Amino acid sequence: MTSLAVLPGDGIGPEVMAEVLKVHTVVGDVFGIDLAVDVLPYDADWYLTRGAAGFDAQEVRRRYRAVLLGALGDPRVPDNRHAKLIIGGLRQDLDLCVNLRPVRLRTLRHCPLRHVGAESEVDLVIVRENTEDVYVGVGGTVRSGQPEQVAMEVGVHTRRAVDRAVRAAFEIARARPRRRLTLVDKSNAMPAAGPLWQQCFRAAAAEYPEVHTDHLYVDAAAMELIRNPARFDTVVTSNLFGDILSDEAAQLAGGLGVAPSASYDPADTGFRGVFESVHGSAPDLAGTGRANPLASIMSYSLMLDRMELPAAHAAVERAIDEVLRGDLLTPDLGGTARTGEVGDEVCRAIARGKEERR
Ligand code: ATP
Repeated sequence: MTSLAVLPGDGIGPEVMAEVLKVHTVVGDVFGIDLAVDVLPYDADWYLTRGAAGFDAQEVRRRYRAVLLGALGDPRVPDNRHAKLIIGGLRQDLDLCVNLRPVRLRTLRHCPLRHVGAESEVDLVIVRENTEDVYVGVGGTVRSGQPEQVAMEVGVHTRRAVDRAVRAAFEIARARPRRRLTLVDKSNAMPAAGPLWQQCFRAAAAEYPEVHTDHLYVDAAAMELIRNPARFDTVVTSNLFGDILSDEAAQLAGGLGVAPSASYDPADTGFRGVFESVHGSAPDLAGTGRANPLASIMSYSLMLDRMELPAAHAAVERAIDEVLRGDLLTPDLGGTARTGEVGDEVCRAIARGKEERR
């Protein structure tokens, strides 16, 4: 039977994943989708008792069609090594070269910018290269602790990875109504990586004449996101810039509590990817019932889309829209609701949607 691997993880991860599983049950009932769930124990406790042994990303790919991940991060684990092992393992070993981060304002009152006058002004997708840049671990420190200490962090960019990210972004841009794609880089200060990104972008652009393209340096993009977010439709960028810009962009739509992500290999038609919120384990909120489960539910919705289940995906999206228009919201969105109440409300909205469409 086809099944999903669920890794609740640490901190608020298990709390928000509990709400995702409620939604999954309702979606299964309403749409007759039979996707069994295996909850896997890979978290900080597992790492602290077992060490690195036992996690095999290839085995996960063989056994499951997708991974739903809560969050990984625990102050007891030095450098969050378990998170690097598990998330890094999935991304690198399974070659999940694309990280998709959609940002869509669903209710105007959740946008902190006074000059944004309509929801439609914040509707963008950031396509972040997911396997390279400074995250490959090339570099090091010499003369540690001495006045002459040197620290090197090397950004690695290969033509293969850049090309795949850029082409995935063109495919995504082509399917969106505005068909607009912006390359964001820092080619004025990065004379090696900059031209590589520009060459790959230009080569792909020639094959997608229907997509309108432009280019911004990352500093200008950070500014424009605040000044005029409506200018953005699809954005493609490298791993580090994507990390930073997507957190900034998430704030335009209500913050980390409503920021989903999908990591996948567009060429893999079997394993559909890893779906997780942009936020981490938020240890300050763990156990308080104040965590917003919507980012994880939105990530689940991205999974439905990647699994080509359009009716279920649309129903979850409509339910999230409805909940965000209401008042039953967690404190990060100005409400007083608890994590479980928001999850229940999403489930009710999906069931109501089914009744209304009868
Ligand atoms: P990690 O090290 O795992 O990334 P972190 O606490 O450094 O954890 P995040 O988990 O991304 O980083 O969260 C940053 C802050 O944003 C949290 O401390 C929390 O206050 C807020 N936050 C994050 N996720 C949520 C959420 N789902 N609901 C409400 N607030 C959240």
